[in-house]
Order: sequence, then C-alpha cells, then structure tokens
Amino acid sequence: MLELIDTHAHLCDEIYGGAEEIISNMAADGLSRIITVAYDLPSSEFNAELAAKHEKIYFTAGVHPNNADEKGVSDKECERLLELSKDKKCVAIGEIGLDYHYESTNKANQKEALEKQLCVAEQAELPVAFHIRDSYEDAYGIIKNHAAKLKKSAVMHCFSGSAETAKQYLDMGFYISFSGSVTFKNAKKFPEIIKNIPLDRLLVETDSPYLTPDPFRGTTNYPKFVSLTAKKIAEILGKDEDEIARITTENAYRLFFKMK
Ligand SMILES: [Zn+2]
Repeated sequence: MLELIDTHAHLCDEIYGGAEEIISNMAADGLSRIITVAYDLPSSEFNAELAAKHEKIYFTAGVHPNNADEKGVSDKECERLLELSKDKKCVAIGEIGLDYHYESTNKANQKEALEKQLCVAEQAELPVAFHIRDSYEDAYGIIKNHAAKLKKSAVMHCFSGSAETAKQYLDMGFYISFSGSVTFKNAKKFPEIIKNIPLDRLLVETDSPYLTPDPFRGTTNYPKFVSLTAKKIAEILGKDEDEIARITTENAYRLFFKMK
C-alpha cells in the first residue's frame, strides 16, 4: 500500500481534541509518519509530549510569525525552544518566518523573532520549517544572511510564491513543500512551478487543520488528505503516485534527519 509522510500538520490544534484518533488510524490511512508542527510555546510543549507517546509522530518547536506580532519572542522562550530541540523526536525548528497578511502585523517584532529563532536553529543544528507569506522580499533578505550558518537546510512550507522565488531558495539548498492548495481549481500557477522543482527537493504536507484539498475544501483538513496533494503532483509530473510517495518519503527522511 501507498505510504506517505505528512511533513506539516498541526496535531496540536484544539479541533483534534488531542489527535489520538488520527494517530491510531495512521496505518489504515496510509500514513507512515506525521510531523506535528508548533506555532507557539504551548503547542511546542504539546507536540513534544505527543511525540514521546507515539512512535510514528515527530515534532517541531517554534513560534509562528503571527504569534510574534505582539511581543516578539523572548530570550527565555528561545532557551526553552533550544531545550526542546534536544528531544530525540524534535526534527526541526518551526514554523518560523514572516507573515504580512494581516493588518495587525508588527514587522519589527516578526523580523526580530525570526532572527532569534534562526539562531536557535543554528545552535540546535536542526533544519528549519519556514512560513513565508506576503513577505518574500524581507524574508529572503534575512534568510540569505543566515543560510551559510544553517548547516541543516530548511523547507519552504506550503509554498505559494513564484517560480523565481522557488529558485532563490532551491539555490540555497532548501526543500519546497506543497499542501492541498495545489488541488484548488484556481491554482493555475502550480504546474509550472512544480515542474521546475528538482525531484529530490520536493515534499508534501497538509498544514491540517487548514487548507483542505479539493474535493473536501471547506471542511476540516486531516493528515490523511496528504494523498490528494501527492496525487495532484503525480498528475502534474506525469508520474505514478507510488513514485511520488517514494521520492517525497526519501526526501523527508533526508531533510528531517533525526526521523527514524
Ligand atoms: Zn502550518
């Protein structure tokens, strides 16, 4: 049976009520691993506990830019993130980045939080899961300055930028991850972008509970729907779903090298 890794899900989201049901159905749903991604300190702690309980669950620790608007990220919080990063199941720092989508955006706080957490990733010697939205120029400036020190590479999660932007990050050795948004009817730009990503840099994810792929758009997303994204990518590339599953699984183990 086709097995996939959901490299970016939020099992810490309240909507899943602890996510035990999702985890117990993983085999039946064709999921070999799930990486549960944090967006603040409490979700980082929750993820660490969940991963400690379940063999097939790995996690990230980090503060999402929208959660850094008000106060940034304190030194004490960075210390805690660094501690969590030493957990054997912590595979990346994330999701961190810049998100200028909302009116409440405090660009200075977001930038400072990004810089500080990039330093955590460098110290932790872990890869980074980047969330970059409506901020590609600023993000590129900051990330480029750190790229040489980020020994363990990174992924641009839920990529929605242009082919040129993808190339900038590919040139830094990063991976590009696609979510259910590639299945949307108005997602006309994706085929050209996806065809230009080297196969060994491609990842799939759900970003669940958000971004539910077609034909379930408008309902809650679940990690099992990562198969719909893989299927769409296979279709775009003219390849078997099995091959896309094999390639993206290999890539996930290479980038998130602590995952077993
Ligand atoms: Zn996310």
